[in-house]
Amino acid sequence: MAKLSGKNVLVTGASTGIGAATAVRFAQEGANVAINYNRSQGEAEKVKAQALQAAPKGRYLTIKADVSKEDEVKQMFAAAISELGSLDVLVNNSGIQAASPSDELEMADFDRILNVNLRGAFMCAREALRHFLARGTKGVILFNSSVHEIIPKPLYVSYSISKGGMENLTKTLALEYASRGIRVNAVGPGAIITPINNAWINDPKKRGEVESHIPMGRAGESEEIASVFAFLASDDASYITGQTIFACGGLTLYPEFRTSWSS
Ligand code: NAD
Repeated sequence: MAKLSGKNVLVTGASTGIGAATAVRFAQEGANVAINYNRSQGEAEKVKAQALQAAPKGRYLTIKADVSKEDEVKQMFAAAISELGSLDVLVNNSGIQAASPSDELEMADFDRILNVNLRGAFMCAREALRHFLARGTKGVILFNSSVHEIIPKPLYVSYSISKGGMENLTKTLALEYASRGIRVNAVGPGAIITPINNAWINDPKKRGEVESHIPMGRAGESEEIASVFAFLASDDASYITGQTIFACGGLTLYPEFRTSWSS
């Protein structure tokens, strides 16, 4: 049976990668989905078409908004609620990264990444909370974190901090709103085949190097993350809050210890 029948869901950054796969998976599970994008309406419309194909009875809309801008976040929620009637689930998926030695990092670049990944995620969560509390909805808020929530990422300090902060954001909101029936959780993906990894996914040598570090020996697919979001959004996860579920092929298991090198 569909896990999310009749639920109204907003997925941010849903025109590509994990967000797109999540929007389609939620449609397959019976949800109505608001598909946020900030760049290409064409890409978002393609995701909407895939959702329609997967589940023709669902309602889907695309909404342009930059999650780092408060006015656009408010407009996005207003549009989703006006079109779908209400919201039950928010998937905070939007995220960006850029490489730079930390000593050379410009503050504008530091801010840009935190503004999308952490401040933007909080602003969306806050709007969802306001909506859930006003209606008495036992809603669900989900974050797309990363293995870098717990594994440091040299050259990507602002990304690493943003995901580390997301762990505490998940736990703090979960604790603050648990008594009102609102659940807050995160998924921590490992290396997934999406546009954020264009630097290596189509280069067999670089991809082999990445995959050599993953205990399961391969990068993951967006659908393997989308399925965890679908589980966490559903009543199958009714007693789970404040957790990050790592879906990473074993990357968080200290792969360097695969063979014994210490006594
Ligand atoms: P992606 O680049 O395809 O997706 C990121 C999405 O965020 C894009 O659709 C982009 O348009 C959107 N976005 C960027 N800035 C935005 C803004 N200001 N407002 C609204 N949307 C914005 O890559 P992805 O891998 O699908 O990334 C999705 C999430 O997964 C990110 O939060 C990323 O950190 C996380 N993640 C990805 C991996 C991986 O290996 N692919 C691993 C761990 C975590």
